Amino acid sequence: MAYDYDLFVIGAGSGGVRAARLAAMTGAKVAVAEEHRVGGTCVIRGCVPKKFMVYASEFSSHFKTAQGFGWTIDGATFDWKTFITAKDIEIARLSGIYVTNLQKAGADLVHARAVLKDAHTVEILGKDQTVSADKILIATGGRPVRPDVPGAEHAITSEEAFHLESLPKSILIVGGGYIAVEFAGIFAGLGSEVTLLYRGPNILRGFDEDVRVHLAAEMERRGIKIVLACEHTRIEKTDAGLVSHFSNGIEVTTEHVMFATGREPYVKGLGLETAGVELNDRGAVKVDAFSKTTADNIWAVGDVTDRINLTPVAIREGAAFAETVFRDNPTSFDHEHVATAVFSQPPIGTVGLTEAEARHKHGKVDIYRAIFRPMKMTFYGGEERCLMKLVVAADSQQVVGVHMVGPDSPEIIQMAAIAVKMGVTKAQWDQTCAVHPTAAEEFVTMREKYVPPELGAVA
Ligand SMILES: Cc1cc2nc3c(=O)[nH]c(=O)nc-3n(C[C@H](O)[C@H](O)[C@H](O)COP(=O)(O)OP(=O)(O)OC[C@H]3O[C@@H](n4cnc5c(N)ncnc54)[C@H](O)[C@@H]3O)c2cc1C
Repeated sequence: MAYDYDLFVIGAGSGGVRAARLAAMTGAKVAVAEEHRVGGTCVIRGCVPKKFMVYASEFSSHFKTAQGFGWTIDGATFDWKTFITAKDIEIARLSGIYVTNLQKAGADLVHARAVLKDAHTVEILGKDQTVSADKILIATGGRPVRPDVPGAEHAITSEEAFHLESLPKSILIVGGGYIAVEFAGIFAGLGSEVTLLYRGPNILRGFDEDVRVHLAAEMERRGIKIVLACEHTRIEKTDAGLVSHFSNGIEVTTEHVMFATGREPYVKGLGLETAGVELNDRGAVKVDAFSKTTADNIWAVGDVTDRINLTPVAIREGAAFAETVFRDNPTSFDHEHVATAVFSQPPIGTVGLTEAEARHKHGKVDIYRAIFRPMKMTFYGGEERCLMKLVVAADSQQVVGVHMVGPDSPEIIQMAAIAVKMGVTKAQWDQTCAVHPTAAEEFVTMREKYVPPELGAVA
């Protein structure tokens, strides 16, 4: 049977665009539907605008540090509107590049919401049109979860945080994941009074325990108030602002409340059931190692599959799909040892296993750890400390985890990830000569095993 397209991609975000381009470049007839703006979460309301906000907010601490080096900075002020305008211009430019790249590859772009009618038919909403396709790729990403508390409608999520009319004087951020701590750092750096509320025992669940403790202390040092082990029960809108009620009886009044309480796969109303595409128990599209769904001609990549929800992962899954299906070269993306960064202030870089995961998997582990004042802080007298940690499997001596909190950790961890992916041993790691004077050199000069004080007697 002849179809309108060889491939129809639903969602022009990180995964969808990469897959569409690579498939179209093989000569396949490809269309991509996008209901919002081309570029998806990463470009429009995720990684990229967030990193611009981090840059903007870091200047306040740079100005403080500069004084130690003899600079006088008088009258430095921040103008939210100037920044937001500049950010929006750049985001529009980047989105335009995505459009151009799709067009250059020969893919058709459909500016509309697309839903499945059956396994080979897509309905283009608002255009009274259906399109048939031999193969379909679902790359619809994720959506922020809004907790079901009274008054939730008064709160924003990360989606709106990029477009506020003015810099909040005060903000309560609910959540303890990477988006919560990143926005806490952004708003605090720009001058807002920030409270972070998280129901768990500490921020950044799933990260190495030392990293969690270290970052929480650094955030508090920067004036962010962190409230843990406590639920957010209600928001009340008053003339004084939004009054948030906590389960410990405390009330906090802020100009804004931001939910950073997780994201969920964006599958609602997509018509998956009409095409035989099943969800897993987390509500994500169920896929195999080659990103194939339970329907024979339908694949899914990126956040909608809830594997590792990061842009480079969505891109690699999209590329692997195109390679498998349009170049007849079965390729699956390896989700092990994916490095990640948290653009908190200070930032985090991490790859491989946490200490707890390594103990669980390998039994005995050797830990190497350094905590020191970054060189740039010495004149200013700032209290900021950098944390570096290596987790080594005791039997094989393989470096199985690398964790860092401190300036430039996201840049440093990218390189460390190569070594971890290659499975290098601590001895090989140590053969690497240091680059001096840097913070990164600490990683190759840690010789003494770290024994936590409480384990000193038994280790
Ligand atoms: C605040 C924030 C910060 C982040 N920071 C980072 C970071 O620093 N580093 C990192 O690696 N990752 C980061 N991420 C995660 C990253 O953005 C996602 O992992 C990535 O964008 C996933 O790509 P995707 O292709 O799966 O989906 P998306 O990029 O979300 O793209 C899906 C697209 O599909 C469209 N769509 C959905 N349904 C339909 C439909 N039915 N019809 C037509 N179009 C549809 C959507 O409008 C969207 O454009 C961040 C996310 C957020 C929210």
